[in-house]
Amino acid sequence: MSSSSASTSDGADRPIDGPIDAPIDAAVGGATHGATDGTPAGARSGGGRLVLVGTPIGNLGDLTPRSVDALAAADLVCCEDTRRTGRLLQHAGIRARELRVVNDHTEDRAVDDVLARLGRGETVAVVSDAGMPGISDPGESLVAAAAGAGFTIEVVPGPSAAITALVASGLPAGRFAFEGFLPRKGSGRTERLAAVAVERRTVVLYEAPHRVARTLDDLLRACGPDRRVVLARELTKLHEEHWRGTLASAVARVSDIEPRGEYVLVLDGAPAPAEVTDDHIVAAIDRARAAGASTRDAVAEAAAELGVPKRRAYALATR
Ligand code: SAM
Repeated sequence: MSSSSASTSDGADRPIDGPIDAPIDAAVGGATHGATDGTPAGARSGGGRLVLVGTPIGNLGDLTPRSVDALAAADLVCCEDTRRTGRLLQHAGIRARELRVVNDHTEDRAVDDVLARLGRGETVAVVSDAGMPGISDPGESLVAAAAGAGFTIEVVPGPSAAITALVASGLPAGRFAFEGFLPRKGSGRTERLAAVAVERRTVVLYEAPHRVARTLDDLLRACGPDRRVVLARELTKLHEEHWRGTLASAVARVSDIEPRGEYVLVLDGAPAPAEVTDDHIVAAIDRARAAGASTRDAVAEAAAELGVPKRRAYALATR
């Protein structure tokens, strides 16, 4: 263990000043990540650090000691809402040196100022209202700009509703697709729903309570009634609930009970397409021919319809 350690009441040695597996020169202050061109972390930047700090998604007990330390040590804390983050800091018994509002509307405008402060060697922390910054929350632009300018990026991980819901869903979690919030309307929504419908991996979606019913309805239309879904509600809070069923039963449920609280929808992946046999291909070619297509066109149509190579369809059409 590279960092100092202390014996705790359970007799175990715990690191007190750095990450467990940190190399010796990175033991204090957490792991460091330099620019991708090999410039040592902070070397170009005069030591400025951007620190992404995870915060609870509903249960203050999930605020980690490391998050508290990072917020207390920052020269500036960027947050979505100063009152909300102020309450969190108060709960932790710390006073931030300076809070600045950085939300979806102001993040891009904040970038130059944050880069200037990192350039002066300051430490800038980023939190969102809940969970991990950058996950359907501000943070991404600041990280991209700071990393691009060669500053050190650090993460103090905390809970995220997506991962919390996924691991409790019982659906395959080895590979999954995070979709965040679907576009609210228009072709963007239609296209995303079509992509979700054929996605083979488990899909994790965020949704506001007053839109859960409509989104489940749209998912039902896109994916069919039998697709399994888990509605993860009020995670880590008093009324935490994991409801499991099919899309058809989920739609029926939310029409009975008006959704309240925060929701993550975890959707089972699309089933593997059924194997296309020679008989399927011959039947598709025969249908196209019967409708008046030439052999060449019938082969092309059948191949496109069933997603098989034209060569295979042609061989069957001419055997
Ligand atoms: N950055 C956050 C994270 O890491 O999870 C997500 C922020 S996003 C603006 C808010 C959405 O996350 C909510 O609409 C809901 O879908 C989901 N969410 C957040 N907290 C939740 C909770 N305690 N239970 C269920 N869903 C939650």
